[in-house]
Amino acid sequence: MRYERRLVRGTPLWLGRTPDGRVARIDRRFEDVVRGTNTWDPSYQADPDLETARLLAPVVPSKVVCIGLNYRRHAEEMNKPVPSEPLMFLKPSTSVIAGGEPIVLPADSDEVHHEGELAVVIGRTARDVPEDRADDYILGYTLMNDVTARDIQRREQRYTRAKGFDTFAPLGPAIVAGLDPNALHIETRVNGVVRQTSGVDDLIFPIPKLVAFVSRVMTLLPGDVISTGTPSGVGPIRAGDQVEVSIAEIGTLSNPVLAPPGA
Ligand code: MG
Repeated sequence: MRYERRLVRGTPLWLGRTPDGRVARIDRRFEDVVRGTNTWDPSYQADPDLETARLLAPVVPSKVVCIGLNYRRHAEEMNKPVPSEPLMFLKPSTSVIAGGEPIVLPADSDEVHHEGELAVVIGRTARDVPEDRADDYILGYTLMNDVTARDIQRREQRYTRAKGFDTFAPLGPAIVAGLDPNALHIETRVNGVVRQTSGVDDLIFPIPKLVAFVSRVMTLLPGDVISTGTPSGVGPIRAGDQVEVSIAEIGTLSNPVLAPPGA
């Protein structure tokens, strides 16, 4: 199943699509999407507004948990040691935007980077989840761009400001359930030029380990996101650029980059 969230006639709705692309279900509450409650409405299959309705971020997370330095070659390019345990930080929910919405460069930074990442969307309240049961708590997978003000990150050695600006967490375009993350290949392009390309099986800490590790620290709620880290090849984005993060089985998360307001 593929889940999208769209603004249909002024109301945000989740749509479930079958593998052949038909709209199979429509729900108003994320809890219903997760529970798979029986809200099948075949009349929506004939609704032309659905295809043109504005795409929203596929979830409204209470928190976005990010994992740093989870690909060996990215740790090398950052001149940082490979961590012995997952390195966690949070992005505020207010940094989340949908595909198509602009990443707005902050006036406080001169060096903003893309970080294309595979993101896990949690489907059930998760606390102290053992690794071998992690799959039961995952609704599906989506894409995130962990946009980072690299100059601020370098200067402060802290992540909250560097990664927490509004619009710094493009998320989407859809959540896809039932994928084998180890079989996925992620690519990030800027203006069509490939900047990052990697198999997701290169993760230092695999996804079940991340769900277990994070849920030992904080309760994960339905709709929360764990972004699994970025491969090597991070680099600058500038006003006028178009950034795309792609995994064939999920789609493309595409965002334009805007200059700071008033610049
Ligand atoms: Mg990152």
